[in-house]
Amino acid sequence: MKGCKFGTHRVIEPKGCLPQAAKKIDSSMKISSNEIKIDVRTLNIDSASFTQIKEACHKDVEKMTEMITTIVSDRGKMQNPVTGSGGMLIGTVIEIGDDFPDQNLKIGDKIATLVSLSLTPLKINNIKKIHLENDQVDIDGQAILFESGLYAVLPEDLPEKVALAALDVAGAPAQVDKLVKSGDRVLIIGGGGKSGILCCYQAMKKLDGRGQLIVIEYDRENAKRIKEMGLAHHVIIADARKAVDVYEQVVALTNGEGVDVTINNVNIMDTEMASILPTKDDGVVYFFSMATSFTKSALGAEGVGRDVTMIVGNGYTKGHAELTLNLLRESKEIRDLFHQLYA
Ligand code: NAP
Repeated sequence: MKGCKFGTHRVIEPKGCLPQAAKKIDSSMKISSNEIKIDVRTLNIDSASFTQIKEACHKDVEKMTEMITTIVSDRGKMQNPVTGSGGMLIGTVIEIGDDFPDQNLKIGDKIATLVSLSLTPLKINNIKKIHLENDQVDIDGQAILFESGLYAVLPEDLPEKVALAALDVAGAPAQVDKLVKSGDRVLIIGGGGKSGILCCYQAMKKLDGRGQLIVIEYDRENAKRIKEMGLAHHVIIADARKAVDVYEQVVALTNGEGVDVTINNVNIMDTEMASILPTKDDGVVYFFSMATSFTKSALGAEGVGRDVTMIVGNGYTKGHAELTLNLLRESKEIRDLFHQLYA
């Protein structure tokens, strides 16, 4: 039987909505003719979600295992009930329905899903290892991809977990590619993290020697690393929850003008105003962070009279996977760093 292309045939509750918005979906592993089944090796839990789970469980791996297992068995998908976010996975294709549109895909192909775990039917038989340091969870389990589900066949020239880490945040550098132009002043908040580093590299490329890139980083060591890697013109060590402090420091570095483009890559709440305040009128704020509140952004911008365009961080833009993997191929330094942190 052919299922709905967007996966609504698997929604259990509430009926009529799409799988991402559903509280519970059907994660039975019998596929419809337009679905594929994946033997899952590793989940890359979204950073905002992983951070929330880690904090709620006080970094106790047993409690985290229980929490992740409970979420997936309750919801049929790995969607954090607090952050609403998911992540993505890597695994091997083990079954392909006759009506699945991409007939080039083969059984045995290793793929990374490029749609969120927050809508991906998932069964976990066993959690083998939780990697506290890089948001990855090795499991024995299976997942389903709908007809509309995006994926990338894993490249042979990069280690799987390096590709997994980069593909998780592929939307961010690809959006930077669209938003930043030579001569802009750019602010990247959370520039030392996984998406932040890729965004810095892409922004520096687009600036092409003209303009200014300022990074806000929380951790002193990470800040030092960005400077040493030449990924920013200025690195400010600050807490992005302290909006006025960030604003004053950015304004001081930009002759009182503020920036044209701000990219928010943090994994915690309450950083909306640190993004909006330093951005010029008519500037653009791209909220990649999953901890962003629409209400706080909209009312906050209005409250300070800032006429900025705010972009919801769509994790997908055409060509995002290729662009991001190419950054790793281009920059040995970033490739080595990703290898050290995520492989
Ligand atoms: P990450 O590697 O954990 O990086 C998070 C960054 O935020 C780090 O640089 C961290 O700095 C910084 N940070 C944390 N607290 C801070 C504070 N108080 N002030 C300033 N910086 C602070 O995360 P990621 O994987 O790049 O993901 C970044 C965000 O994108 C997350 O919110 C994630 O959920 C979201 N995301 C969105 C999509 C999408 O489709 N829109 C897809 C994937 C991920 P330290 O290292 O110093 O703590």
